Amino acid sequence: MNNKGYIVVLGAGESGVGSAILAQKQGFDVFVSDFGTIAEKYKKALIENNIEWEEKQHSMEKILAADEVIKSPGIPEKAPVVKELRAKGINIISEIEFAGRYTNAKTVCITGSNGKTTTTLLTYDLLKRAGLNVGLGGNVGKSFAWQVATENFDYYVLELSSFQLDGMYNFKADVAVLMNVTPDHLDRYEYKFENYLNSKFRIMQNMDKDCYFVYCQDDPATMEKMATICSKTNLVPFSLEKQVEVGACLSSDESQINIHLQNNDFIMNYNELSLPGKHNAYNSMAAAISAKVLGIKNEYIRESLTSFQGVEHRLEHVLKVHKIDFINDSKATNINSTWYALESMHQPTIWIVGGKDKGNDYTTLLPLVRQKVKAIICLGVDNTPIHKVFDGVIKDIIDTQSMEQAVKSAYFMGEEGDVVLLSPCCASFDLFENYEDRGRQFKAAVRNL
Ligand code: ADP
Repeated sequence: MNNKGYIVVLGAGESGVGSAILAQKQGFDVFVSDFGTIAEKYKKALIENNIEWEEKQHSMEKILAADEVIKSPGIPEKAPVVKELRAKGINIISEIEFAGRYTNAKTVCITGSNGKTTTTLLTYDLLKRAGLNVGLGGNVGKSFAWQVATENFDYYVLELSSFQLDGMYNFKADVAVLMNVTPDHLDRYEYKFENYLNSKFRIMQNMDKDCYFVYCQDDPATMEKMATICSKTNLVPFSLEKQVEVGACLSSDESQINIHLQNNDFIMNYNELSLPGKHNAYNSMAAAISAKVLGIKNEYIRESLTSFQGVEHRLEHVLKVHKIDFINDSKATNINSTWYALESMHQPTIWIVGGKDKGNDYTTLLPLVRQKVKAIICLGVDNTPIHKVFDGVIKDIIDTQSMEQAVKSAYFMGEEGDVVLLSPCCASFDLFENYEDRGRQFKAAVRNL
């Protein structure tokens, strides 16, 4: 036994294996346990690093002997193994909490219900363009822990889910970005929005006068919570609706984006942003503020915001076929994200929607659907919730059961100047492996037209 202590890692995915490698490097005894099957590449990494592991089971005796447990964000509180650990009072933390102990790099941490990945990749692009020695991690790319173990970055841009945040206690973000908070994942939060909101706000814990909290002033849930918080950190809002003294907002004629910070302003034309839609204006503002508080020059910010080409499956323009545009927004798995997708459409829209519904209230989309949508193509095993709301509102609503059928139907209904938008509002597990699979099938079907 090693006298540094004994760490158990639950879940051998990207974050778990990264944590195990870091723990091993730091001199802990490590055991990795996964109740499912471990992917080959992760097994290989564990073997190469001489780390003990098991799959398809949890050996409770070994697990309950842990000094501390690093839990994969995918494992819920209600899992029996977690309950037993809690009953025994064993510390359970997340990968980010653990890795944060072993690096002095500055972190930009990005969370929210929607826009996390886009803002994370845009911020990373910005910092990289400016020449910083920066890593990208969290929910995107290689895990933070793995990089702390094997790289030597001065900065990290991290995408954090509420599940990661739930296991964070002493971690301090240098810059924290909260994009928005709308109902999602409530099954993990006792169906209480307040619990989910509190979880998102954990990103702010431990921040002090040298840190920056970047948030959306137009988001009602964020603002309600902010009113109850007394924070020592620097607050930097962004808004498309109001003027702000410090932070990002639009000029009074809405033609420019202005960022005011410490007597150092940044101004650029709104219509020069490379990412389309109001939601992406928020994402661009958040990324630009993060870069600015880290001292990045305006020229790099402008260069990145005008040339960043977006992220696959997020309002991704696929092809124009006979003057009909096809857009892949497969990552839109809730109402809020589809709201922004529809909001950014400027052509008559044939909307492909449906999948595994998480209890969606489609009525909030009615005004936009009336204004922009000419036909609806339902793509899911059970399309009744969609029919319930839109039958009688939109004349053409058809049901399909495969991506090929959905894309072909959309194409036949389309006319010159229309856009076909896949923005499903739902998870994909009824017909697809995941949202990436759904997006790829969409693109393949479009290319086969
Ligand atoms: P996340 O990582 O939080 O899921 P993404 O950047 O992957 O967010 O975007 C997911 C979907 O959410 C996109 O397809 C887009 O339609 C929508 N979206 C992106 N940014 C925002 C935002 N700031 N507010 C609301 N919806 C957004």
